[in-house]
Amino acid sequence: MKRLAWGVGLGLALLALAQPFSLERMQADLRALLAQGPRVAGTPAAAAAAEYLAEELRRAGYSVEFQSFTYSRTRDLGTGLWVEGEALPAVGVAGSPAGRVEGPLVVVPGAGLAADFAGLDLRGAIAVARRGGIPGLEKARLAAERGARAIVLLTEEPSGTRFTFGGQSPIPGVTLGRREGEGLLGQAGARAVLEVRIASEEVRGRNVVAWRSPSAPRVLVGAHYDSVPGSPGANDNASGVVAVLELARTLASSPLSEAVWFVFFDGEEDGLWGSRRFVEDHPEVVRGLRAMLNLDMVGVDVNGSLGIGGSPELRVLADCGAVQAVCGGAPGGGSDHVPFAQAGVPVLFFFRGLDPNYHRPTDTTADPRLLAQTAQVVQGVLERLLPLRP
Ligand SMILES: [Zn+2]
Repeated sequence: MKRLAWGVGLGLALLALAQPFSLERMQADLRALLAQGPRVAGTPAAAAAAEYLAEELRRAGYSVEFQSFTYSRTRDLGTGLWVEGEALPAVGVAGSPAGRVEGPLVVVPGAGLAADFAGLDLRGAIAVARRGGIPGLEKARLAAERGARAIVLLTEEPSGTRFTFGGQSPIPGVTLGRREGEGLLGQAGARAVLEVRIASEEVRGRNVVAWRSPSAPRVLVGAHYDSVPGSPGANDNASGVVAVLELARTLASSPLSEAVWFVFFDGEEDGLWGSRRFVEDHPEVVRGLRAMLNLDMVGVDVNGSLGIGGSPELRVLADCGAVQAVCGGAPGGGSDHVPFAQAGVPVLFFFRGLDPNYHRPTDTTADPRLLAQTAQVVQGVLERLLPLRP
């Protein structure tokens, strides 16, 4: 960890001036968001969450606007996988066509990379491949090219975890978790029935955008507030939202807040819709950004450290030692900073890792102390990044 001597002194001085982060207030925010139930984009729960966030931001002195957008989403109406008559807990992958397919299982060897498909005869088969290495959509296309009628992707996550192809798959696809999926690897040739029942629906999403000064911001701090069906989304991602909200409150009386916009994104879980629309609809704002800081899943200590990924020139501004935080790395993709990075904006991604409750009904807790620590690190980055005015 590189430590900037001038940054430490400045950071500590400002930290002393700023209001402390309130653990009680963050706990109350978490309770309020979780009380809505799963905040699936386009549902009343998501709408209520957006209203709550807007109200809290206004109360803290911010101007707030909703940015509305629409997109189409597939909904799972009951997907099934039966192998030799035994039902397995498969889940349809968003972007899969609906349909019922019967055929023998054929296992794609290795990690299921492009080379592993070479020479395979999948005609009439239901392909079984491990997820990862290359996108699931590419595996579905490779399987379809070799004649497969459907694909089962085996994931490291527990069964029931929801995934998206991020595009339209040519054949029906389902996922199965490690525990149930391992058994399939030894069942090549077994008769299987796979049925994906999926419907398409129009979703109206809303980003919550807040600022103290309407002039173009230098930095955007964001977190997605939507969650997946069936999951209360405490760590994913009420945690990031509450950390950003508390940071916004704390900075409201500081000149720093005049150079920052705070954005709560909707539709992240369905494919980064909110952040993609923000980037599309605000080209002038995006052009002027020196940084986009994104917080996702920062309320459960999975790795014993706060993961920070993104642009190296911003990464060195994160002085974790100054706030007694242990920091590590984070993956480059998977959340709302991606569309900004693709538009050329330097980004940082704050992420503590996938916890065992990820996208499950048991995602019900986030630790306010971890949120406060994350918000402190983010505040330090803002202080080092933005020139101070008296
Ligand atoms: Zn998330």
